[in-house]
Amino acid sequence: MTIQPLHSSMLIFTTVREIRLWLDRHAGGRVVGFVPTMGALHEGHLSLIEASKRECGLTVCSIFVNPAQFNDPRDLALYPRTYEADLALLADSSTDLLFFPSVEEIYPHDFVSVEADLGGLDQVMEGLHRPGHFDGVVRVVHRLLDIIRPHKLFMGQKDFQQFTIIGRMIEQLKMPVRLVVCPIAREPGGLAMSSRNRRLSKPVRDQANLIFQILQYGKSKRPVLSPGQTMDACLEKLRQAGFDPEYFEIVDPETLQKIKQWPESGRLCVACTAVWLEGVRLIDNEFY
Ligand code: AMP
Repeated sequence: MTIQPLHSSMLIFTTVREIRLWLDRHAGGRVVGFVPTMGALHEGHLSLIEASKRECGLTVCSIFVNPAQFNDPRDLALYPRTYEADLALLADSSTDLLFFPSVEEIYPHDFVSVEADLGGLDQVMEGLHRPGHFDGVVRVVHRLLDIIRPHKLFMGQKDFQQFTIIGRMIEQLKMPVRLVVCPIAREPGGLAMSSRNRRLSKPVRDQANLIFQILQYGKSKRPVLSPGQTMDACLEKLRQAGFDPEYFEIVDPETLQKIKQWPESGRLCVACTAVWLEGVRLIDNEFY
């Protein structure tokens, strides 16, 4: 079904068949940019859409809360769903097409999941703490790419391990799409924007800004402390600041393996962290 919203020229599709037909007929020679999301949109998502609009002739956004990537059913149930507000934001951002499929549309009963060798990238950090999460992410992104067939895929640096794994999948399966990674959009206080931030109470939002400050503190310790000492010091600071940290790791940006020594100057590493606050799981990262 295709619905024409009153307030914009954005087209909304809920079925694979119809969005595919439309793209085949009307995309023409235009470069197609694709921004997959799980909705509850914020400025971080909109920055990806803006990047796509700058680089591409046609911008497609999808909203699909992917059950396959939630290892915790409570997290899936509590995931914010704000479809009406999302529609208004997308229409204002001049997104061309919105794909808003059902679970059955993405995973029909005869669906066969892709197999990709992720070379251990999924065995650390988020992968360790959220078993099966990246299987679900790879499954849905591969499926969406197969449906939309974009020239460019826009993802956020906010989910560092996610875009690294999707980059690996694209390379391994030789998929004809270019991954474009966009910087982390932050609240004025430094908190990385996230759909999950809506679940934080107002007083705790200030506290959440400390995640970014602690990432900056860690950065300032290079090279006075070793990477291991920096990780320990940041974990301790997170605990003192009232968080329940799952991990704080300084890793090689390509292998995602923890570094033992700071790389020679000119080569970057990245600090990645996941913490709990008020029952909400927050992630962030920063290049060091
Ligand atoms: P999500 O809806 O959380 O699955 O995110 C959809 C896309 O938006 C992913 O590529 C995320 O990395 C990206 N994204 C989420 N938050 C931000 C942010 N604060 N800044 C930039 N990109 C983001």
